[in-house]
Amino acid sequence: MDTINKRIYLCLAHMGGQELQFVKEAFDTNWVVPLGPNVNGFEADLEAFVGENKKVVALSAGTAAVHLALLACGVGAGDEVICQSFTFCASANPITYLGATPVFVDSESETWNMDPQLLEEAINDRIAKTGKKPKAIVPVYLYGMPAKLDEIMAVAAKYDIPVVEDAAEGFGSKFDGRVCGTFGRYGVLSFNGNKMITTSGGGALICQDEAAKTEIMFYATQARESYPYYQHEHIGYNYRLSNICAGIGRGQMLVVDEHIAHHKRLCALYKALLADVKGITLHENPSERYDSNYWLNTILLDSDLAIKGEELAYAEQIQGAVGGAAGVTHQAQTIHTDCEPNRNVEALRMALDRAGVEARPLWKPMHKQPVFADAPAYVNGVSEALFKRGLCLPSGPCVTEDDVRYIVQVIKDSIL
Ligand SMILES: *Cc1c(COP(=O)(O)O)cnc(C)c1O
Repeated sequence: MDTINKRIYLCLAHMGGQELQFVKEAFDTNWVVPLGPNVNGFEADLEAFVGENKKVVALSAGTAAVHLALLACGVGAGDEVICQSFTFCASANPITYLGATPVFVDSESETWNMDPQLLEEAINDRIAKTGKKPKAIVPVYLYGMPAKLDEIMAVAAKYDIPVVEDAAEGFGSKFDGRVCGTFGRYGVLSFNGNKMITTSGGGALICQDEAAKTEIMFYATQARESYPYYQHEHIGYNYRLSNICAGIGRGQMLVVDEHIAHHKRLCALYKALLADVKGITLHENPSERYDSNYWLNTILLDSDLAIKGEELAYAEQIQGAVGGAAGVTHQAQTIHTDCEPNRNVEALRMALDRAGVEARPLWKPMHKQPVFADAPAYVNGVSEALFKRGLCLPSGPCVTEDDVRYIVQVIKDSIL
């Protein structure tokens, strides 16, 4: 059978074994709709996992969870929302769905996440310039690493602005022993095919209480008033998770702890194997307070580290999506953009690609994306510098310890 496992990918989905049983039950009982025992069971599993007496709503995507959280924070046309710049586009796109404007804030160099000092500067400057407070703050746990949550939450409390934590990549990560996604008013989870656990596609929103959960469910199911006929007083969305997908999620919750332990084990192995490699730095927890799930292990290359074949980096245009499984991309019109990874990073990515290993540059900061060229940004150079020097390495449950040894050997052989 043709599978997609021929290469070593960053983080492929991995079934624990019980998923099909839950899905079969859904078929056998005809719960083939976006509600039912698997949805309820999955939500209960998630609530037990995140703790802190939180309530969780299962949704069709992490992006939908960001969208509904912002809606519930009252974000609307003409508002501003502060968002970490160093992230995947799904943290920021829903801000624009609501007619609001993202205000991007750069990162600090320890966690790579939102810089709390710059956050406060941004809030003060937005108040000075617009006379209004930003409506929400969206910090992100990039590659699973918790942010400086004590400081970010203190700034948010000082200005009384709700926090929507984008924990899409940080499922199971902890700060000061507490699960990420439970600090803010809402916490976003993603169960896309490449995340810590998957429902093939799906997400969830961590809510503070039952009332907040009910409100999110109302908007996720087309905002219907209780009449015998369809009566609408609000604009709703079709964002509930299917009972079929939730069955996969219930199976995945039986192996989530194993998955997280596996990602951490691979981190420790990358650390040991890369310890004597000059010019390459692995991204790690800055202190005991941080407990990253190491969803993706990432490295930084010193800009003067010489990699074989650098003269060929950016020689040819990329066809399609790097990695392959990412759907349709527009064909790029140029080889270069005004902000791209250093040549040695691209040369190493190409060497790994030829060796059958998927590696990917760090996410390009939103304030450097043409689509957000007009959005206000508070920048310190940190995320741009990291983007130019960094690569994500295979870290998922399908990646074996031998795979990591092979990957590090390819890296070592690529150094001039
Ligand atoms: C994956 C991801 C999302 C979106 O999740 P989907 O389930 O793919 O919609 C949001 N934010 C970040 C940081 C992500 O990595």
